[in-house]
Amino acid sequence: MATVVILLGGPGAGKGTQAVRLGEKLGLAHISTGDLFRENLKNDTPLGRQAREFMDSGRLVPDSLVIEMLFDRVAAPDCANGYVLDGFPRTEPQALALEAALGDLKPRVLNLEVADEVIVQRASGRRLCRGCSAIWHATFNAPSKAGVCDTCGGELYQREDDQEEVVQERLNVYHAQTAPLVEFYSARGLLVGVDGERSPSEVNESLVAALAAGPVETN
Ligand code: AMP
Repeated sequence: MATVVILLGGPGAGKGTQAVRLGEKLGLAHISTGDLFRENLKNDTPLGRQAREFMDSGRLVPDSLVIEMLFDRVAAPDCANGYVLDGFPRTEPQALALEAALGDLKPRVLNLEVADEVIVQRASGRRLCRGCSAIWHATFNAPSKAGVCDTCGGELYQREDDQEEVVQERLNVYHAQTAPLVEFYSARGLLVGVDGERSPSEVNESLVAALAAGPVETN
């Protein structure tokens, strides 16, 4: 049976960085709904045009658009063995749609726990590569040459929505709409919490250990 891993956590909690590593380690596709939207923005598709105003202001793109895009993507052959979800689900309707689609397959849900102050600090220094979407940080994970991706040599940029006011709005949205999913998955006995305030390698080790240990049983 396929393996589906869900990474939960606030904006800038490290979901992207960890999802890439986990995907590589487990041989699973890494599916980031944020990356899929940014791809659509870059290519100026109808979906990208619909998503732009929500993304730029730090709000969530409407569920119907996200769900359709996600289900389309995970139907691709590279997801046949499973996938690591990064940034989905973000609302209860999304979680319910995924649950219905997965049927008997129970996802493994890992929650990256990071305090709001740390999130704001992380987002302000975060830089993305235009070429390969790799994630860097001006202080915590700096590329060898400022502004240039070590992986592919692409140009680094700051996400529009990593500006401080937008990060604050994304945090508000996170607490109102996404944080309740911690309870949603915890009630189903599928959630493991991991301290996300350590170095990427330490967090990665804990995530791998949590997956190896199996789901937490609840009464
Ligand atoms: P991310 O890269 O995951 O932080 O996503 C960037 C932006 O894309 C978010 O702030 C939302 O506007 C949008 N987005 C990504 N994933 C979702 C989702 N599952 N539901 C709604 N909006 C999303």
